[in-house]
Amino acid sequence: MTRAFNFNAGPAAIPLEVLKQAQEQFVDYKGAGMSIMEMSHRSALYEQVNNEAQSLLRELFGIPDNYHVLLLQGGASTQFAMLPLNLIRPGGAGAYVMTGAWADKALKEAKLVGDTVIAASTEADKFMRMPDMSEIVVPDNASYLHLTSNETIGGTQFTEFPNTGNVPLIADMSSDILSRPIDVSNFGVIYAGAQKNLGPSGVTVVIIRDDLAKDSPKTIPSMFRYDTHVKTNSLYNTPPSFSVYMVSLVLQWIKAKGGVAQMEQYNRDKTKLIYDAIDQSGGFYLGCAQPQSRSLMNITFRIHSEELEKQFIKESEQEGFIGLKGHRDVGGLRASTYNAVPLESCQALAQFMADFQKRNG
Ligand SMILES: *Cc1c(COP(=O)(O)O)cnc(C)c1O
Repeated sequence: MTRAFNFNAGPAAIPLEVLKQAQEQFVDYKGAGMSIMEMSHRSALYEQVNNEAQSLLRELFGIPDNYHVLLLQGGASTQFAMLPLNLIRPGGAGAYVMTGAWADKALKEAKLVGDTVIAASTEADKFMRMPDMSEIVVPDNASYLHLTSNETIGGTQFTEFPNTGNVPLIADMSSDILSRPIDVSNFGVIYAGAQKNLGPSGVTVVIIRDDLAKDSPKTIPSMFRYDTHVKTNSLYNTPPSFSVYMVSLVLQWIKAKGGVAQMEQYNRDKTKLIYDAIDQSGGFYLGCAQPQSRSLMNITFRIHSEELEKQFIKESEQEGFIGLKGHRDVGGLRASTYNAVPLESCQALAQFMADFQKRNG
């Protein structure tokens, strides 16, 4: 068996150890005579999986006791709507930090639901940087401030977060959750689709402070209310049980690797190889994001000619590299280097980049 050098943006690489463990348990989960997928979500065995996914997340991410961990469906895209539905207060507005494609999608949904305001924008710089903390203005009537901690398409990442005082800070961490330690107590809500850094698609993690899960408007249907899922331990309806199980295995894997601080170091080592290949290419490769905002999860870069970019993608695929084509909206090249992408894949890519330059520079 050969495993591809997988740089997909999402769904993305899952640790080989996790896939093998799932394979071992696939047909007969813990002697039950059936797979986890065939089991009642009310069974003791599944409840264990549901609880373990939550408690490992708490442990690894340092989530304080006054937060709930919810395991929901509908992806981060559903949170774009659920957040403003539940959290924009009468007379209030959702404040958004505009940093690229994902922030824009979040804002668009909020606009359908209530009043919104733009608290900062880096559009003038084509979203190739994150704003400084001093650029972010939280209006008096803000019900919350929403930001995207890592812009998966542009390849930019926040390195610090604004102090918003009493206004809840909300972060879409879909593409960098558990890639580095974060002080969760600075946030009102953190949410993330699982398919980048936590496992397969199908489950969305929502970490929400107690008080924010309470006073949702009475008119919101049950499935879209945070309190519904809080009260039922994320078992209000049938959960995506196989996805939750896979997330629990990925969390065990992160723990065995030494935790989130170790992940960050590993991610720094991995991305340095590729950013160095860009910076030391004498201008053959051009990094897209401004250096102070460079992401440790999605490395975006270009070659001076689109012809060569096409050739780069074609030849890289022949060599076993997958997913290096930039997002269709922005073009260019992108390497996604989530937690589960091994160092060896990044070493191989850096080598391929140097060789490609030698042949075409
Ligand atoms: C992928 C992604 C999303 C969309 O997630 P879905 O689970 O597909 O809805 C939202 N935000 C960011 C930052 C992403 O990377």
